Amino acid sequence: MYTDLKDQLAAELAEIETAGLYKHERHIDSPQSARIKAGPLGGAAEDVVNFCANNYLGLADDPRIVAAAKQALDERGFGMASVRFICGAQDLHFALERKVSEFLGTEDTILFSSCFDANGGVFESLFGAQDAIISDALNHASIIDGIRLSKAARFRYANRDLADLEVQLQAAAQLNDGAGARRTIIVTDGVFSMDGYLAPLEGICDLAERYGALVMVDDSHAVGFMGETGAGTPEHAGVSERVDIYTGTFGKALGGASGGYVSARAEIVAMLRQKARPYLFSNSLAPSIVAATLTALDLVKDSGELRERLFSNAGYFRSRMEQEGFDLLEGEHAIVPVMFGDAVVASKIAAQMLERGVFVTAFSFPVVPKETARIRVQLSAAHTREDIDAAVEAFVASRAAVLG
Ligand SMILES: *Cc1c(COP(=O)(O)O)cnc(C)c1O
Repeated sequence: MYTDLKDQLAAELAEIETAGLYKHERHIDSPQSARIKAGPLGGAAEDVVNFCANNYLGLADDPRIVAAAKQALDERGFGMASVRFICGAQDLHFALERKVSEFLGTEDTILFSSCFDANGGVFESLFGAQDAIISDALNHASIIDGIRLSKAARFRYANRDLADLEVQLQAAAQLNDGAGARRTIIVTDGVFSMDGYLAPLEGICDLAERYGALVMVDDSHAVGFMGETGAGTPEHAGVSERVDIYTGTFGKALGGASGGYVSARAEIVAMLRQKARPYLFSNSLAPSIVAATLTALDLVKDSGELRERLFSNAGYFRSRMEQEGFDLLEGEHAIVPVMFGDAVVASKIAAQMLERGVFVTAFSFPVVPKETARIRVQLSAAHTREDIDAAVEAFVASRAAVLG
């Protein structure tokens, strides 16, 4: 009977609201961009400058990408209405897999509907009861869930802590009555999105080598713009060849629509095509998304200009905010956390900023540790100096309004 469940859910939802944890979505009445029209549900949309999208390269509304998607709609139709092992895939899908492999310098790539699904399929397919998976404590939810689906022994190390990682590698070496795990993999986000911190990939690869482990990097918050050619954090750290498995999303810098991938050694990808359940039992990416993502990769590959603009924007924002005396987490990423400590202060300042036409989001416990509430600012190549000046001015005015 639904009546019982209805009451239980209503009570639980009320608790979430009372605790201040209810996630209220805004509506956006424009394309995703540096400047959008946005408003609260049931309220009018206003023009705001947007600093909370993962639209790092500003490609989400790029006319060349939109045109590629339109052309594919005309030439290849709307949907695939099938899974690949039953009905095949379009040449576009295979072309995108080849292009991602070229871009990352890997042997092969397999597409998924999302990076969430890529991480959901990779562990169970490759790691069983005799194996060990060693995961950073702050890894993305989809990695955590993917690992849960595998029967492998699980180990967790403190965020970016190489000493603790080594302790976990030693523990994995004691599995199977001291014989050690059959396969051991260390898995990390390339970038930890609440802090903008990069994973210590060189140290991770050194330890992996010493202990005979594989390395997997989920580079969703880096692919397309970190590293000299945009190949991500492994390129940035100079360890591209030492990473065995890359996962990532097309839903952030690379056009921002949807889709994810696992890119890796040929046999690993071949096995995933046989075994990964989100690949075997879920529809193929829509042709328009595949075609547009191919164009996004061309735009990223052929020009460092967007990357340069992104990092010059991030640097400009950082220096202006430091001049104004804000407390920023240090870093080299386009995620710039502005620290306030107190959850109420951070959320009041974010609300004040919205009234001044600047859209940012405050994060507090349990998303980040207690007393480290922050406003996470995400820069984009699409932001102009005026946009960034507007953000800094809104921060200054909102701080004065809230803290006096
Ligand atoms: C965004 C993100 C994902 C999810 O990607 P989708 O393609 O949107 O499912 C997975 N992992 C990390 C690290 C991410 O930042």
